Amino acid sequence: MKQNETMLNTPHNFKSIYVDETDIDLAGDDHLFTGIETPIRADAFELSDSEKIHNIEHHFREIMHMLGLDLSDDSLRGTPLRVAKMYVKEIFSGLNPSNKPKIALFENKYNYNQMLVEKDITLFSNCEHHFVPIYGKAHIGYISNVNIFGLSKLNRIVQYYSKRPQVQERLTIQIGRELQEILGTKDVAVIIDAKHMCVSTRGINDTNSATVTSFYDGKFLEEHTKSEFNKYINL
Ligand SMILES: [Zn+2]
Repeated sequence: MKQNETMLNTPHNFKSIYVDETDIDLAGDDHLFTGIETPIRADAFELSDSEKIHNIEHHFREIMHMLGLDLSDDSLRGTPLRVAKMYVKEIFSGLNPSNKPKIALFENKYNYNQMLVEKDITLFSNCEHHFVPIYGKAHIGYISNVNIFGLSKLNRIVQYYSKRPQVQERLTIQIGRELQEILGTKDVAVIIDAKHMCVSTRGINDTNSATVTSFYDGKFLEEHTKSEFNKYINL
């Protein structure tokens, strides 16, 4: 009996919780992508934004302190609070569904039924494996159905899903599906062409490569529609 107890307390039993450090490095650099939905806990919004900012400030101060930085220095003193506010209110604000842009739909009165393309939409996100920026362009195409909305709303949807820790594949699909739902059509295409700072500034240190991901559905799965879209965005 004593022996069993000892066995239960050996590090071996913690293997399923604490992943080996080498596995973590490999998973991050190999760009592991586990699902289309952002993995958010059920209790994610029980704390208010100001409670989160307060807690993150405390933990970020600990990180800086542990790195050996002198937090009494005038230049560093405000950094933990600044980072905490930036995380909650800006660069990760898209985790909270209450920040989802409200989209007013209009009836497609002109009966415009051709392709609409919005290209070179500025995109800033952050890699969920390293918490460093992903930046580039998003290109969106859709074929109008009954609903249309203001063009700036395309930027808003791109921004909302970008303001989460992300992997580029998931971001592309989330934007595509959201547009399909709002517009009431399957005929949507999304291309993201972006650079990852976890690739350029560390690890493999490649400053030239860019990553292109695509979402094609409905009529965009047909070769002529897809190539018309790709021609407009000069892909
Ligand atoms: Zn990364």
